[in-house]
Amino acid sequence: MEGNVEVEKNHERKAAPDGRIYYSYADVHKTLENMVPEIKKFKPDLILAIGGGGYIPARILRSYLKVPILAISLELYNDATETMCSEVKKIQWFDETTEIARDMFKKKVLIVDEVDDTRTTLEYCVQEVIKTNTPRAIGVAVIHNKLKKKKGKFPANVSYFVGENVPDKWNCYPWEAVNYGHDIETHEALAAKGRA
Ligand code: 5GP
Repeated sequence: MEGNVEVEKNHERKAAPDGRIYYSYADVHKTLENMVPEIKKFKPDLILAIGGGGYIPARILRSYLKVPILAISLELYNDATETMCSEVKKIQWFDETTEIARDMFKKKVLIVDEVDDTRTTLEYCVQEVIKTNTPRAIGVAVIHNKLKKKKGKFPANVSYFVGENVPDKWNCYPWEAVNYGHDIETHEALAAKGRA
């Protein structure tokens, strides 16, 4: 891979009593902020945000990178049933006919998601955007990369930006606190305890 950039090495965090690792809003924001200098060297022209988990990270990055966001939605893990699907479902893609999309062959695209688990979703997204609009260059940025054997692969010329390498445990992010039965204050308290 071209520029395979890991900004922060694995910060040891303790799992909560439910076995999951909780990240506060400030944890997420800070990790993304630390990634910005390396991402700026890649000089992205636009962000492709993979929803749901990539939307808030993409919005935080936009404040620094000042480039437009195109939102897409892919599903491998079904939140409603808490199960893995056998393949990636394309719930929503961008309009391939707009000027910004038609110009992608001249542009550097940064794909943003919250976590690289098996890499299946990210591989699908990279391959799909190559198929539909063939950007000049592709970068992939994730807050967390789980240290595990990956099912998906990136083409050799993809630049990969990782905020933190983390163990193969379930990560809980502030925007999904309710999925784990917590209000945001409880979520933030669990995140603070995990850091202590
Ligand atoms: P993949 O296995 O394709 O890398 O990850 C698929 C999707 O599963 C991710 O985009 C993310 O939405 C979800 N996922 C995987 N691991 C975690 C995790 O630890 N926490 C959360 N909240 N979502 C995860």
